[in-house]
Amino acid sequence: MSKIIAVSNQKGGVGKTTTTINLAASLAMADQRVLVVDMDPQGNLTSGLGQKSGAEHTVYEALLGDEDLPVLQTAVDKLHLVPAGRHLAAAEVELVSIEERERRLARLLEAVRQRYDFILIDTPPSLGLLTLNALVAADTVLIPLHCEYFALEGLADLMATLSRIRNGLNPALDVEGVVLTMFGDRTNLGAQVAREIREFFESKVYDTVIPRNVRLAEAPSHGLPVLLYDPRSRGAEAYVALAHELLTRNGAAPRRTAAAKA
Ligand code: ADP
Ligand code: MG
Repeated sequence: MSKIIAVSNQKGGVGKTTTTINLAASLAMADQRVLVVDMDPQGNLTSGLGQKSGAEHTVYEALLGDEDLPVLQTAVDKLHLVPAGRHLAAAEVELVSIEERERRLARLLEAVRQRYDFILIDTPPSLGLLTLNALVAADTVLIPLHCEYFALEGLADLMATLSRIRNGLNPALDVEGVVLTMFGDRTNLGAQVAREIREFFESKVYDTVIPRNVRLAEAPSHGLPVLLYDPRSRGAEAYVALAHELLTRNGAAPRRTAAAKA
């Protein structure tokens, strides 16, 4: 089994990058072979995994040129990274004139796909060509929703984009799941928004909820997934639980517990 999952929501600050890093690390600690791809010009996934921006070989050169995807090892054994660099913002414009511009990433991932159990793609907070490339390459979309603040606002745009892509470029595109992030259980608003989201997406919403946890916000400045930065934090436990739930829903039992490894 090999699955490509785009982590997407056109709103910024909802936990896309945090989820990509920590879900991917948790899957890798559960003995899955995992690749993460940074498609956001901000490069937060790249820096959050300890890579300096300014690398010569990034996803940009592969998207625009003839190069293969550059794949880097991270601090987690089975977790590899395709980094972004500062040029990636230009790709949004430069891709426009390129043949099969929406399928560039899909083509590049075909070459590496069989080496991985999961490929997670982090996307920018927009529905431009970089996000489109991710959604065309993906089997499914994982949607992080921030529970406390107008979570459902703008979702109509994302759902419309998904159905447009299903009607054309990627008919098999499915929703992998919806994950509630930055949940603060002391506020009624969070609980109320969570209920609304569950009504809207029903069983697509994971039982696992990611709490607001400062360790999750601190870990990227150390260039580490939270599982290496503070494995006993609530944030780490939540992403391990999310990984196990995702594996179970995909009919794959975790091969080894993250706790045993960490
Ligand atoms: P996006 O990629 O959707 O823009 P991020 O993952 O970068 O969102 O998260 C936005 C900010 O919130 C970042 O500073 C991140 O460290 C922080 N953050 C994300 N998830 C949590 C969480 N569960 N608890 C605390 N801070 C979080
Ligand atoms: Mg991000």
